[in-house]
Amino acid sequence: MTQPKRAVVVGAGFGGLALAIRLQAGGYQVTVLEKRGKPGGRAYVYEDQGFVFDAGPTVITDPSALEELFTLAGRAMSDYVELLPVEPFYRLCWENAPPFDYLNDQQALDRQIEQRNPDDVEGYRRFLAYSQAVFQEGYIKLGTVPFLTIRDMVAAGPQLARLQAWRSVYDMVSRFIKDEHLRQAFSFHSLLVGGNPFATSSIYTLIHALERKWGVWFPRGGTGALVQGMVRLFEELGGTVELNAEVARIDVEDGRVKAVEAKDGRVFSTDALASNADVVHTYERLLGHHPRGVSKARSLRSKRFSMSLFVIYFGLNKVPGNLQHHTVCFGPRYRELIQEIFNHDTLADDFSLYLHAPCVTDPSLAPPGHSAHYVLAPVPHLGNAPINWEVEGPRYRDRILAYLEEHYIPGLREHLVTSSFFTPVDFRDELNSHLGSAFSLEPILTQSAWFRPHNRDGTITNLYLVGAGTHPGAGVPGVVGSAKATAELMMEQLNA
Ligand SMILES: Cc1cc2nc3c(=O)[nH]c(=O)nc-3n(C[C@H](O)[C@H](O)[C@H](O)COP(=O)(O)OP(=O)(O)OC[C@H]3O[C@@H](n4cnc5c(N)ncnc54)[C@H](O)[C@@H]3O)c2cc1C
Repeated sequence: MTQPKRAVVVGAGFGGLALAIRLQAGGYQVTVLEKRGKPGGRAYVYEDQGFVFDAGPTVITDPSALEELFTLAGRAMSDYVELLPVEPFYRLCWENAPPFDYLNDQQALDRQIEQRNPDDVEGYRRFLAYSQAVFQEGYIKLGTVPFLTIRDMVAAGPQLARLQAWRSVYDMVSRFIKDEHLRQAFSFHSLLVGGNPFATSSIYTLIHALERKWGVWFPRGGTGALVQGMVRLFEELGGTVELNAEVARIDVEDGRVKAVEAKDGRVFSTDALASNADVVHTYERLLGHHPRGVSKARSLRSKRFSMSLFVIYFGLNKVPGNLQHHTVCFGPRYRELIQEIFNHDTLADDFSLYLHAPCVTDPSLAPPGHSAHYVLAPVPHLGNAPINWEVEGPRYRDRILAYLEEHYIPGLREHLVTSSFFTPVDFRDELNSHLGSAFSLEPILTQSAWFRPHNRDGTITNLYLVGAGTHPGAGVPGVVGSAKATAELMMEQLNA
């Protein structure tokens, strides 16, 4: 009997796990090697005194892409994890204006838009039609297609030109909508995948159409329950996840990966390798001994990287009555603050925040009468602003908690039971993320599709990439889509 072909996936983020499921279901014998003690990557889970804190993704969109992973293995996702609808999708708040509940009810949206600027009701409809057209081209048609050759890019050129993809998200929104707060409400989404709304391609307005089409969801038990469901499916299919198994080196012979070496000395021979680890880390560290690693790392280091994040996880011995599940807290400045986060070398005095209150949807994430939260602030990555986070971290935490107490959660610090924070240095050291970026390469047009690191390496023919640093990019739907594109290529190799 012939042995099944082996595949190793480095990293158990959403992209790595989605790929591992596809490969194992397709006939490979797959081993996932994960550096940390739990799977999930950015979707790690911290537990403390009965509180459950999802570390990263909390806005789950496009459930159909997740469902597909289970159906291709002949299972139903509902037997593994339950997705709960979140409504409103987000509450958007400003210091000097009434909040805006962004939801999937057209009449309620129209009412709120009309209160701000009656002309924008019609403008919003045209914006929605535009974002739906981009969604069809950019997500449905091209989101899971590997862009391996310049021909693939040229073929997509006419659609990109027709959709004016060279314009920024904010520029495009402003063509339809006049009220400044509404412009912010419909342009901030690109920040969720690491894109500056003033620089990233208007293609990213597709996130709006995607949310309107499929809604916003939250797994019962937290995003970690979705990760656990995926790991269970993968293991039931016969795959193996090795935790605390940091890969130190990829061995290449005659232009092909032969094995990977873990830091603890274990060697895993393989027929194909996919890296879900950071792309710069993959070429610079894991392949730094090979000419391909040296040259590719050099070219990648010259790219633009997304901002980082400062995240505070905190538990309260009360349940604030006034919060929605997702709140975006816009500060006094929008354009100027974002430009500083992406381009300046210091930490701004003001901030815009995302506040997570998952107990609104699932109270089981905290002990009775308590609530689990996180709040994040986008901050410059370490290449732009080499801030000493050991000193700045506690100060920044105190400033953010004081701000939340003043504007959103009265009495916060008096009710604080536990708190911890994660800085750009942690993104770099815990997740091996280049410059501590939270979302890998910045999703600007010249770093998207064919211009992004390809799903298969151009020289080492059985080396593949999956996750935020390859096509299509960051965000859960993005990396799950990258797994589909990469799996297609790896299955070609299996069946060759
Ligand atoms: C705070 C935060 C909030 C977010 N919120 C959302 C949201 O609400 N919705 C959304 O869609 N997206 C969100 N995102 C983005 C989304 O989480 C990420 O884009 C996505 O999860 C990245 O997945 P990935 O597959 O690229 O892998 P990652 O999650 O980056 O995982 C990579 C894995 O590789 C491991 N690794 C690294 N080096 C090695 C090595 N040498 N050996 C072995 N293992 C290694 C790491 O430990 C890690 O587990 C958020 C991100 C953050 C940081």
